[in-house]
Amino acid sequence: MATPTHGGRAKCLQRLVRLDLPVPRTVALSFAEVHRIAAGQMPDMAALLAHFDPDALLCVRPSSEDPDWGGPGAVLNIGMNDARYVALTESIGHDASASLYMRFVQGYAIHVARLDPDLFDEIEDVGQAGLSAALAAYEEEAEEVFPQDPAVQLREVLRSMARAWEGTTARLLRQAKGAPVDAGLGLVVQEMAPGLGKGECGSGVLQLVDSDTGLPQITGRYLSQSQGREALKHRNTSLFLEKDPRGPSLEELAPEAFHQLKANAELMRRKLRAEMQIEFTIQNGQVHILDGMRVQRSSRAAVRIAVRLVEDGIITPQEAVMRIEPGAISELLHRQVAPGADRRVIGRGIAASPGAATGRIVFSSAEALACTSRGETCILVRRETSPEDIRGMHAAVAVLTERGGMTSHAAVIGRGLGLPCVVGAARMKIDLQRKTILAEDGRTFREGDIVTLDGTAGEVLEGSPDMVEAALDDAFQTLMGWADEARDIGVRANADTPADAATARRFMAQGIGLCRTEHMFFEADRITPMREMIFADATEDRQAALAILLPMQRADFTELFRIMEGLPVCIRLFDPPLHEFLPTDRAGLRDLAEALDLPVSDVTRRVESMGEYNPMLGLRGVRLGITVPEIYDMQARAIFEATLDASREGAPVVPEIMLPLVSANREVELLRSRIDAVAAEVRAERGRDFTYRRGGMVETPRACLRADEIAPHCQFLSFGTNDLTQMTYGLSRDDAGRFMGDYVQQGVFSEDPFHVLDLDGVGELVAIGVERGRSSNPGVTLSICGEHGGNPESIAFCRAVGMTYVSCSPFRVPVARLAAAQFALSAQGVRKPPRM
Ligand code: PEP
Ligand code: MG
Repeated sequence: MATPTHGGRAKCLQRLVRLDLPVPRTVALSFAEVHRIAAGQMPDMAALLAHFDPDALLCVRPSSEDPDWGGPGAVLNIGMNDARYVALTESIGHDASASLYMRFVQGYAIHVARLDPDLFDEIEDVGQAGLSAALAAYEEEAEEVFPQDPAVQLREVLRSMARAWEGTTARLLRQAKGAPVDAGLGLVVQEMAPGLGKGECGSGVLQLVDSDTGLPQITGRYLSQSQGREALKHRNTSLFLEKDPRGPSLEELAPEAFHQLKANAELMRRKLRAEMQIEFTIQNGQVHILDGMRVQRSSRAAVRIAVRLVEDGIITPQEAVMRIEPGAISELLHRQVAPGADRRVIGRGIAASPGAATGRIVFSSAEALACTSRGETCILVRRETSPEDIRGMHAAVAVLTERGGMTSHAAVIGRGLGLPCVVGAARMKIDLQRKTILAEDGRTFREGDIVTLDGTAGEVLEGSPDMVEAALDDAFQTLMGWADEARDIGVRANADTPADAATARRFMAQGIGLCRTEHMFFEADRITPMREMIFADATEDRQAALAILLPMQRADFTELFRIMEGLPVCIRLFDPPLHEFLPTDRAGLRDLAEALDLPVSDVTRRVESMGEYNPMLGLRGVRLGITVPEIYDMQARAIFEATLDASREGAPVVPEIMLPLVSANREVELLRSRIDAVAAEVRAERGRDFTYRRGGMVETPRACLRADEIAPHCQFLSFGTNDLTQMTYGLSRDDAGRFMGDYVQQGVFSEDPFHVLDLDGVGELVAIGVERGRSSNPGVTLSICGEHGGNPESIAFCRAVGMTYVSCSPFRVPVARLAAAQFALSAQGVRKPPRM
């Protein structure tokens, strides 16, 4: 009956028939046949009808390759006409027969004759009178008598369903869900088992698991005819199979049918190797199975279902790994807005950090702290965030900014902290003075109002919708263990603080791939010595400030090494875009003036003189190390001393030291000799030896092009694709959020390139860097540490060019582990299961 060209439903029904399940007679029309029907070439209707009992009613259902691609709705009860109405009154009575006919007339009118659905709204009569009114309404509006010939009815149903699939709107909708341009539609014509008769009759659905939790539990609905004809006339009265206070269960009404359905569902689970929902009817106690489809499931249920199928010996662990969407894993790590919750969206932006949280709106870090100290949760709303907001971000449960993109400060820190974050919500107007937000719909929200931020969807919602909790249960751990066995590319975490490192360990990262040391100075008690160091004019002043920073850094690194217990830790030397460390408001200027014992006016002047027109292209990264080398000397010393301290207590530590924003080999050469000299000093002072690895961050286009000159000085190269994307496009990572939505919507960019690696442009530069780096240093370790390291499509690329590992925010580590495993498995020929 069905081949792969007939669609998922047809294929599933074919398998049910082969399992000897009681499926009513079914004929499947292929994609090609349906395509011909849409073009006006109808099949031989007499031959088609000859497959079925001449007295049977028929239904037609869509059968696309993937049920998520949508398709025309099913049309039921084809063949109902005046003669059958009369005949059926004998067996099921006038009312039920009239109701059946009336529903067909309505369905046909709306879906086939394309009449206005309102046409039937005013018909209040039921039974014969209602039917007559419906037939009359049809006749008047369609200007024809309701077709009586079943062959004509079926022909028109087939034609209208085939045409609906080929319509432009339907095509665009399914393409948006990933369907190819030429996706086909199959149609399934099936004899109806209407669930009407003298014995126990009814219809329903049944499944063996709970769709929300994935735990074994028989659930479903059953509409019994014996519950009264009233139910048929007005609306479906659900009769739940589980204990239903409103009436008897199916098990009580028809125990044999119930047990047969259960056994059938179990057989389907085993043979179709998936958790299935059965659509059935019961006619005079006899079960008919009309359809089977994959059970709808939450992300949490998907993981439990896959793991249980492995535990029951039905699928392999590798298949289970292939069955879970990496994006679904991300949902499990955070609280989320419940799937069916009431979502009143008041604003949209870039979904910068997943998860959802509800709290009161606050507009400053101070208010965030005050709110938290009152025991209330709050959402920090800022134009954009800066290091001064870190304390507020820690205190808040979520962050919303008007500006920024996927790699702006709020986004990076939010992901690091696992804090839901929406950035670039440019259509919401934030007024910090008045402490108001003007929502997209024109309403004003004030400080203290309760909103919910959904960082997964990039939406701000009014009020507090229902939530579902994170679900790091045993099933999750089991699945991730299987993923790790399959994976052939490493996954590390970008972690700057002990808390990040602990999260990285919890999510089984294989090391730290990027520790942004400037982030270690965002905390309020640390930003001042950092600023003093930046502000120092004379060498002695700078040395004095560095002497304060050294023990802090040493303690930081020792702690990181301890937490990571011998796993590699890659420390990037300071890469502060200076503007991020300069005070921006009066209070900050005053604090700094106090610390430096200078008048505020002096400090203000100095801040102004240090301002850069283009800070992201200014005195950043390795340029700071070249022009003010004492800073990197201090950091190298702190790393080496921490290495010795931490090695004493546990596994020997081999730190990795990385130079940021390199663009010329001479930069690496110069700093390499300085770092080597510091290492020699520390060895001599401590009388102990250690090793370390040197590396460069490839994040300027020139570094990619000249990677063959840079690589010989390095044991590893790590691609910083955030800056590389910024510089390749000439697109500010902090400002792109303003127009990125428009760009993606109008198809200028297919995706935000800060989110999904642009393979054509940035990817080509990375590939050049990989190839040239390897050509002069075949043993060089290659990796990525830009945000793309946690994005599945980008991971596929990194794997394909032969990188050793990817590094991403701690909360993205599980997603990266699963995605990487799926790429390795598909390379071995393990396929994702067909959708049913
Ligand atoms: C990068 O540019 O890709 C990177 C990881 O560095 P940062 O985001 O800190 O500039
Ligand atoms: Mg960078």
